Amino acid sequence: MSWSLNIGKVAGTVVRVHITFLLFLAWIFAASYASGGAATAWDSLVFMVLLFLCVLLHEFGHIFTARAFGVPTPYVTLLPIGGVAQLERIPEEPWEEFLIAIAGPLVNVAITLLLVFVAGAELQPSAAAAVDNLKIPLVDRLAAVNLFLALFNLIPAFPMDGGRVLRALLASRFGYVRATELAASIGQFVAFALGFIGLMANPILIFIAIFVYLAASSEAHMVALRAASRGVPVSYAMMTQFATLSPEAHIDEAVQTLLQTSQGEYPVVDSTGKPVGILGRGDLIRAIKTRGADARVADVMIAEMPTISHRATLEQAFKLLQQKSAPAVGVTDAAGKLVGFVTSETIAEMMMLQEALPRGVRIGPWSRPAGA
Ligand SMILES: [Zn+2]
Repeated sequence: MSWSLNIGKVAGTVVRVHITFLLFLAWIFAASYASGGAATAWDSLVFMVLLFLCVLLHEFGHIFTARAFGVPTPYVTLLPIGGVAQLERIPEEPWEEFLIAIAGPLVNVAITLLLVFVAGAELQPSAAAAVDNLKIPLVDRLAAVNLFLALFNLIPAFPMDGGRVLRALLASRFGYVRATELAASIGQFVAFALGFIGLMANPILIFIAIFVYLAASSEAHMVALRAASRGVPVSYAMMTQFATLSPEAHIDEAVQTLLQTSQGEYPVVDSTGKPVGILGRGDLIRAIKTRGADARVADVMIAEMPTISHRATLEQAFKLLQQKSAPAVGVTDAAGKLVGFVTSETIAEMMMLQEALPRGVRIGPWSRPAGA
């Protein structure tokens, strides 16, 4: 389950709203209804929707800058703490990441300036904290909250834009991986500070702090994974001993295979050995319940398994895994036959192995039985 609803497509990017964002809107509505009645509640809702638009414009600041550097942006997701524009790949040039990251907050600065100089808003910092105060004109509140958004997003912690700006600045000196580690540590320190202030002042800050803390570690993890997979041929790390399923097989035959192995995913290959799909352990078990033992593997599998040549690098396989959000990437030989496959676990194991090895020792050809 993805916890996000698609609400439309803007300029080729799918806009998704995370369920917590909707809960947040409902909470704002309920809280302002309780404190000031229906008029206040509606006013708050209108304000929140306008705010949502400003956040979206902020994200499109990132999106259009990213596209200018040729980075595709398939999705943008709105969360209560702001939006997240998903970039299909992380820009490798520090200055590109710097510009992409800073473009979002700059959009909010531009909106603030527009509201002040064109719509005649009066910038009063207290308005950002009093967004449900009907006495303060809407434009004033919007201007204040946009300025707040710009500053908030510049907090130097992942996943805030400030974290990326910080990494970009550090990357030109320390390299990408080290810069990410440093930025993640600084971000976690900032998260602690936020959480502490939250305990004293505002409980919402505690939630933001937890979110920031977790995001900082996952960003560092992702970058380390990517670095570990760089330059390693995919054929060194892929699983080469594994069970496959035939698309014509009945579910009960597939269950036999499931019982005999401990694989998490089963590639489905046709009679010539070419991959035609993939079936996860969990999906197989669900299929027995919903479709019965007589259904065929072809009816319940994911009909697309991203594949990569056996000459590719593990990094390319990992990128494909992320881009397609697939459970596994198949590795094929020159004739298109499946010779192995990698999952995110393969790469995590690779990393643990690399960490266990003394410095400078390269990983040689190795493979492992499935699920071992
Ligand atoms: Zn941003």
